[in-house]
Amino acid sequence: MAQQLANCVFCKIIRNEEPGEIIYEDEDVTCIKDINPVSTHHYLILPNKHIRNAKTLQLEDSELFDKIVATVNIISEKMNLNPASTRTGFHWPPFNTVDHLHLHVISPVEDMNGIRKMMFCPNTFWFVSTDYVKSRLANCKS
Ligand SMILES: [Zn+2]
Ligand SMILES: [Zn+2]
Repeated sequence: MAQQLANCVFCKIIRNEEPGEIIYEDEDVTCIKDINPVSTHHYLILPNKHIRNAKTLQLEDSELFDKIVATVNIISEKMNLNPASTRTGFHWPPFNTVDHLHLHVISPVEDMNGIRKMMFCPNTFWFVSTDYVKSRLANCKS
């Protein structure tokens, strides 16, 4: 069993101790519906291991991080998302909602209203793209 926290709401959903609409799961990641969707499709891809946020990701988690990003394709296919109008990204501390790393997958972007578009606008102080986190991880290697 992956390292988890007893009282974390996402760890509880992964352990099936808390209700959550799981649309995909495997040994490394779990994908659930966001309880406050901002568009027709709004999913969260969680590592089964408890990682606090995108900033605390360690080099040892690089493979797991790649797996999280790759899961976007699985979800897109499964839910018939149009990649051209799908937005993904992570909260950047201290602007977290739940302290368990989760990648937001939102589609279609056109259906989001102005304030929500701002909330989930990549590479702001509060929301960052997968590429940003990836390059940050790559930088710790050197
Ligand atoms: Zn957790
Ligand atoms: Zn969130």
